Amino acid sequence: MFEYGLERKVEELVGLRERREKDSELYKIANEVFDRGTLAALLYLHRKGWIERLQGIISTGKEANVFAGVAGDGKSVAVKVYRTYTTEFRRIWGYLAADPRVGYLPKDIRRLVFVWTRREFKNLQRAIKYALRVPEPRIFRNNVLVMEFIGGDEPAPRLKDVERELNRGDFEELYDFTMGVIERLWKRGDMVHGDMSEYNILIWDSPVVIDWSQATVRRNKMSVALLRRDLRNVISYFTRKGVHTDDFNEKLKELLES
Ligand code: ATP
Ligand code: MN
Repeated sequence: MFEYGLERKVEELVGLRERREKDSELYKIANEVFDRGTLAALLYLHRKGWIERLQGIISTGKEANVFAGVAGDGKSVAVKVYRTYTTEFRRIWGYLAADPRVGYLPKDIRRLVFVWTRREFKNLQRAIKYALRVPEPRIFRNNVLVMEFIGGDEPAPRLKDVERELNRGDFEELYDFTMGVIERLWKRGDMVHGDMSEYNILIWDSPVVIDWSQATVRRNKMSVALLRRDLRNVISYFTRKGVHTDDFNEKLKELLES
């Protein structure tokens, strides 16, 4: 439980006084995952108007929890809160160390996660610069990233969630879209997503690629391995859905020669 005082602030942030019953789960999760530092970051963003209210949990993951909220301007936001006590230190460290854009790497996991969060923010900005439809990044602070909320009353479903309602033609379109993103990113943006899958594509007004934490630049020596992984995952997924997909080796060659 939070210490007295902080507890009141969290209640304010998640609007508990007005909706005690309905959002008890949100409150429970908030209690579990917000350490003092995270809370301070959230309250800072609250004071600055970036987050007026957290309203619900969209996703609880190993590395991050994503919340739905509203900003001071009334717009919906998604708030991705990275855990600062992750067991993934080595993996995160390895990814960051290979990224030529990242300079000094902190030795403690908390600060390393701050660098990770900032990098995802920068990746979103960079993807937008190359005209890709991704959640518009709003701001970050320490381990908290605020971005455009994709969805309406409910968050947009992931491709994985709606695949049973889709037909062959839908999959063909989605395959072209996804391959188009990979190509544009690589050729125009000098970038690779690194975790492209049916779990990181939201189906909304158009498909929206999310989860840019692993994305990096072509100059990174890991970038080709990440590109191979994206191509392999995407081609194998859409092949299973009956799409006539590109040949992996040909596509890889084409991209590497571009
Ligand atoms: P990690 O793998 O690092 O733990 P993650 O997979 O938990 O990250 P994301 O994929 O970024 O993190 O987000 C988790 C889920 O939250 C997504 O699958 C999606 O359902 C939802 N989500 C993320 N960002 C948004 C957004 N901007 N709008 C709506 N929903 C979102
Ligand atoms: Mn994800």
